[in-house]
Amino acid sequence: MFKKWLQIIFDHRISLQERMFRVVTGVSMIALIFILPMGRTFMNWLLLAVSLAAIFMITKVSIQKERIITGATAIAVLLLLLFPVSFFTAGGFYSGMPEWFVLCFIYISITQTGRRKAVFFVLCTAETLLCYYISFYFPKLVARNTPRHSFFDSANSVIMVGLLTSVLLMFLNRLYEEENKLAKEQKKEIEELNRAENHFFSSMSHEIRTPINSIIGLNEIILRGDIPEDVAENARNIQGASKLLLTLINDILDLSKIKSGKMEIINDSYETGELFSEIVNMIWIKAKEKGLEFRLHVDSSIPSMLCGDAVRIKQILINLLNNAIKYTTEGSITLSVRCERLGLNRVRVWYSVEDTGQGVKKENIPYIFNAFRRVDEEKNRHIEGTGLGLSIVQQLVELMDGEISVNSVYTKGSKFVVMLEQDIIDDKELGTFTLASRMKVHEGVQYRQSFEAPDAHILVVDDNDMNLVVVRKLLSATKIQIDTASSGEECLTRTLEQHYDGILMDHLMPEMDGIECFHSLRTQPGGLCQDVPVIALTANAGSDNQLLYRKEGFSGYLAKPVSGALLEAAVMSILPKELVKLTEESGQSEIGKDVLIFEHAKRLSLMITTDSVCDLPQSLKEKFHLSVCPYYICTDEGRFLDELELKPDELLMHISEGWSGYSQAPEVEDYERFFADKLTEAQNVIHITMAKHVSEGYNNAVEAAKSFENVTVIDSGHLSSSLGLIVLFAVSMAEKHASKTEIVEGVKRLRNHISSAFVINSTHMMCQSGRISKRIQVICDALLLHPLIVLRKSRMVVIGMAMGDFTHVAKSYVRRVFIDSRNIDRSILFITYAGMDEKKLEYVQELVRQYCLFERVYVQKASSAIASNCGPGSFGLLFMRKNEAVISFAQADRAEEKEVLG
Ligand code: ADP
Repeated sequence: MFKKWLQIIFDHRISLQERMFRVVTGVSMIALIFILPMGRTFMNWLLLAVSLAAIFMITKVSIQKERIITGATAIAVLLLLLFPVSFFTAGGFYSGMPEWFVLCFIYISITQTGRRKAVFFVLCTAETLLCYYISFYFPKLVARNTPRHSFFDSANSVIMVGLLTSVLLMFLNRLYEEENKLAKEQKKEIEELNRAENHFFSSMSHEIRTPINSIIGLNEIILRGDIPEDVAENARNIQGASKLLLTLINDILDLSKIKSGKMEIINDSYETGELFSEIVNMIWIKAKEKGLEFRLHVDSSIPSMLCGDAVRIKQILINLLNNAIKYTTEGSITLSVRCERLGLNRVRVWYSVEDTGQGVKKENIPYIFNAFRRVDEEKNRHIEGTGLGLSIVQQLVELMDGEISVNSVYTKGSKFVVMLEQDIIDDKELGTFTLASRMKVHEGVQYRQSFEAPDAHILVVDDNDMNLVVVRKLLSATKIQIDTASSGEECLTRTLEQHYDGILMDHLMPEMDGIECFHSLRTQPGGLCQDVPVIALTANAGSDNQLLYRKEGFSGYLAKPVSGALLEAAVMSILPKELVKLTEESGQSEIGKDVLIFEHAKRLSLMITTDSVCDLPQSLKEKFHLSVCPYYICTDEGRFLDELELKPDELLMHISEGWSGYSQAPEVEDYERFFADKLTEAQNVIHITMAKHVSEGYNNAVEAAKSFENVTVIDSGHLSSSLGLIVLFAVSMAEKHASKTEIVEGVKRLRNHISSAFVINSTHMMCQSGRISKRIQVICDALLLHPLIVLRKSRMVVIGMAMGDFTHVAKSYVRRVFIDSRNIDRSILFITYAGMDEKKLEYVQELVRQYCLFERVYVQKASSAIASNCGPGSFGLLFMRKNEAVISFAQADRAEEKEVLG
């Protein structure tokens, strides 16, 4: 019997509650058996024996009838009745009964839940207190125990209760462990199942999209032709049906992605005007076709650029607007957008979609967001739909931490309101946004190609022959010469023989896929298409496409099924301008989000970028098209972007008023965005950062670069204009078409030949930014000491102290810097300063002239980030020492226009 009991306890098919009940009640029954001998009278014995039998029966019946909680409660009541009787008959607190009360508490805590548990605890506590009270104040009511009895009863009970409790805990522990193990296994199984389901959905989507591509493409070609009206009618029906099928596949894919937690929200900057234009262009024509009025009210104060997932916001609004059109037979559809500022950089935007349609019955409203749930089925029988749209909308809104609400009056209309908070990128107001200005007229326009390029030659690579036919036919009117290849290998053979002006590359191909083929193309020995722009063709739907293809270095991507207009727009954007002859239709072609062109015409092969702390004059930055990633300045009033949002003068004024301010390197995500952006302009990016031990910039940039194939990060080992000098050197090498490796090597060599000594006026800011201790700051302040700082092996090192007033300090600093003037490269000097007036700057320049004459002297104001570290009154003389790399750089630059100050 015990064996059977054990088997049941560890049988997972039986509910955990029942098994726990069995364990606890079993232990309680054993306890009663031990209490039995404590009874001194026959009545006592009888009572315990009856109770034991009663508990046994209750347990059995409650398990049979599946009323575990009722059974447990009944037993708890029985114990509460039984224990006082045993207590008084066994000798009160001089017996072993007090220990058994403990067991009663344990029984309650395990078998009862919620309010019932609380009530039982109170009862048990009250009962215990009452028993103790009575046995203390009315000892006559308690059976008398001899000390011998007390001794044995008590010892027996302590040991028994101890043992039984331990057994109970062991059982429970084991039960929990088993359950845990089972839960983990089940979780693993579910994950596995989810993965399989996901894989199934994405491959299903891929497999279905490929034939739809052919259907839609070839159908478009039929529609372009001069065909009788009945054929055109059929072709239009095919178009409608295939698009519906496509929407369905996308919805199912989205839902499975959300379910498996793979739906990522990708926040990026976007133009609000552009987003609304795209939406309006997709919707107004549908509304018009159904005889509905489409109204648009966009708050003119909405910022022109926001940061959010524009693709998903569009998806949400299009979904709501499509529903509004679907469920409205007459009247109007209104899209209203309004915003409320939440602070300097954040807005709360309300998008509302209102219609005068059939509305939703009040009792159905709670169900409209359920997946696959269509309400009012009878009425909506003739309206196409799957019941997935609103479920996806709601989950997307939740993923964006927004809110969605619905207000509907049955037969009168519905209003869906979505609220999303977003960061402001450009505060400029959008201004008046009217429908008339945004509508594009498509109606009755006979197809005409947007351009012709008979001399252009492109290659289309796809393993599916039908896709090759579709692309070829869709582009036939442009007269482009088109070659096709049906595998990566064939593509690579062709690019050895022929130069193409652009390549369209399918992603998923057997053996060598599009990405592998793309990388082989870029490094193909003797290849004629190493620099040719390549557009990826993909049947994978999803917003992560953009990041994927951008990271890999593609010029753009096209999601299948491709429409003729999108294909033309994409191809035109990569062809050399001189080969393209525009027709009148060009400019009207509409590029939706399905096509994403990362570049216009050719990208640079290499771009040098750096951080805002490079302290170079704007003129040089512009001249060399140098992009900088801004540092942050953290002040008491918030975090600002270096230079862009907070100028050095403003910062220093702030600091002089006693406010704090310190710099912070861009975060990994900032660098990721920056690199992704730059890779739209160049195939390779070399990013030169500030000294790696002075800021987090290098580490963050390296981390971000891991997400990209072609971003190289170099530690300049310096900061401020010393970093600027290194950047200028790299830029000049890039302009001379040096390779990536040559530039990296050159920079590494040069960083040991930069003189970058700064004199710090007050150690206050350095102390605030944690670069020196408070003690050193106090000593420096007290003795009027000004530390001289250099960068060695990417670290800031104090190499000495200058004493006295400004003239003294400047003199000794300049002398020290130029002490060995033999190997100074005299082509360029930066006098970089923070918060110094003209007179002091003039004085420094005069001193410099006494020691060493430079061809170009830039008097450069330090960026806010640098100023926040060194504080006002600090300056540095920054130049290069001679070495091979520098000599060639200087010679090349000598011919350049000079900006000599001093
Ligand atoms: P469906 O594909 O059926 O349109 P949705 O998830 O988009 O699926 O909508 C779920 C249900 O909510 C619909 O079947 C419809 O009954 C109701 N519904 C959604 N939008 C509206 C609307 N604008 N007016 C009336 N009913 C609506």
